Amino acid sequence: MNLYLYNTLTKKKEKFEPINPPYVGMYTCGPTVYNYAHIGNLRTYIFEDILKRVLLYNNYIVNHVMNITDVGHLTSDADEGEDKIEREAKKERRSAWEIAEFYTEAFKRDIKKLNIIEPNIWCKATDHIKDFIDLILILENKGYTYRTSDGIYFDTSKVPEYGKLAGQELENLLPGARVEYNPEKRNPTDFALWKFSPKDVKRQMEWDSPWGVGFPGWHIECSVMSTKYLGQPFDIHCGGIDHIPIHHTNEIAQSEAAYDKPMAKYWLHGEFLVMGDKKMAKSEGNFITLSDLEEKGYHPLAYRYFCLTAHYRSPLRFTWTALEGAQRALNRLYENMKKYPKVDAEFDKNYEEEFHKAINDDLDMPKALAITWELVKDNKIPSEIKRTTLLQFDRVLGLSLDNPPEIKIEVPEEIWGLLEEREIARKNKDWEKADKIREEIKAKGYIIEDTPQGPRLKKAKPLSK
Ligand code: AMP
Ligand code: ZN
Repeated sequence: MNLYLYNTLTKKKEKFEPINPPYVGMYTCGPTVYNYAHIGNLRTYIFEDILKRVLLYNNYIVNHVMNITDVGHLTSDADEGEDKIEREAKKERRSAWEIAEFYTEAFKRDIKKLNIIEPNIWCKATDHIKDFIDLILILENKGYTYRTSDGIYFDTSKVPEYGKLAGQELENLLPGARVEYNPEKRNPTDFALWKFSPKDVKRQMEWDSPWGVGFPGWHIECSVMSTKYLGQPFDIHCGGIDHIPIHHTNEIAQSEAAYDKPMAKYWLHGEFLVMGDKKMAKSEGNFITLSDLEEKGYHPLAYRYFCLTAHYRSPLRFTWTALEGAQRALNRLYENMKKYPKVDAEFDKNYEEEFHKAINDDLDMPKALAITWELVKDNKIPSEIKRTTLLQFDRVLGLSLDNPPEIKIEVPEEIWGLLEEREIARKNKDWEKADKIREEIKAKGYIIEDTPQGPRLKKAKPLSK
């Protein structure tokens, strides 16, 4: 069956044809390890995991590379501000190396909990400094670079196709529009390949180079490591949509200028997780981590399920109520799975084909989930076939259906029903009824907390005797 993927580069859904089938090289921009990942970041990694699982489902052999950014990502996505890792090290009074190590391990734990398959190759920026310098030398020899007082820059005006990934959007998203203007840059879109250590501050992470002591720019790392492990061009490069106008645009500029051939064939980008009306971001201060969800009694896989309810190219709004909904749906799926007899059976060909069509249509997971539920509810299919078919689907869903985790159900269905009734009353501005329901819920031992992301239920503390 053909697989279709939306390619940001051509702005079209295209038939996927790898460069060297059945092998697929896939590079996903990894985390900047200066803090815990937030669930917005994790949405992007879940999307990439679905992509990888869909490739595997289609019998491709995937070589997946993910980098760890442990140096050079500054507080703005361009070249101004402090290094995020060094800043956090100061704040936490630990070394930059310890910070990077600590948050790398935390990230690996998070993705494991979400059933994200580990990349085949992890690569750390700080392990590849010499490779970065080599690429900058190639660019220097070809006349793409210039020196300013704070670093070696890439001259974007030398690349006629600069910005082809972002297209028209680039105009609105030029770093100059939201980042301090640097008068030494020849063009506002130029970016640093190598930055000199500031004279007045001692950096913890710095290296010697032909241009002076300093550290690499953020974009050079992905250009170098992707090509080193996957060759050039390779098949698929992905990340969140915020990477389109700056990070990926600059990766393309460097790699294609250096080697005179395309960097990657397919570029896929995941939309944001939003909270309120803003994207979830550490800089916005509106972020939630996976541990936050766990502390509140949610299973990490409930978050994975929640992410599957939206297409990866649509924004997804996080609310506690929606997460509760996902948790309950997943519980129901687990309950059904546990009831089915564990005997060998063929999977149902028709359902499998529908499912396969949905995932091959640019990863239409909402549809794939709808098909999953249709199957669960279909009285004509024997239970043991439902089970084997669901296990087949779970190769892509990744919800541990073969071994459902025990999930504590903290709030009974009855209370949920009341909460929903109260929401309807509130929508109709029937405050009296809403208050009455609140009291009824309280009498049954639960307290409603109204938050900007919707109501949450908490178990009332028993009255002390
Ligand atoms: P960072 O660690 O900041 O480099 O980000 C890691 C990944 O998360 C990148 O691919 C970003 O594009 C992505 N990302 C950042 N914020 C969000 C968000 N609110 N929703 C989805 N993905 C995001
Ligand atoms: Zn990257």
